[in-house]
Amino acid sequence: MPDPVIGLEIHLAIRTKSKMFCGCSAESFASEPNVHTCPVCLGLPGSLPVTNEAALRKAVRFSLALNCRVPELTQFHRKHYFYPDAPKNY
Ligand SMILES: [Zn+2]
Repeated sequence: MPDPVIGLEIHLAIRTKSKMFCGCSAESFASEPNVHTCPVCLGLPGSLPVTNEAALRKAVRFSLALNCRVPELTQFHRKHYFYPDAPKNY
């Protein structure tokens, strides 16, 4: 019998000034809805996300503190999910 392979997807919130993939303020939870948005946030066609370097540095530091292995190369893929009540699929 083969050994089971179990994958984990782990999410964490890192305190940063801007969001993970654009320059919008990360203080969204303290603001009115839809105040800190841009074409990237809205997933508009042609908008290109840029990774927040400060967030990456903090994530790597956190991972190393937990004695995790951090890969030399990491890449992100934007995913769109279709929800009937959100026609922009965001
Ligand atoms: Zn944004």
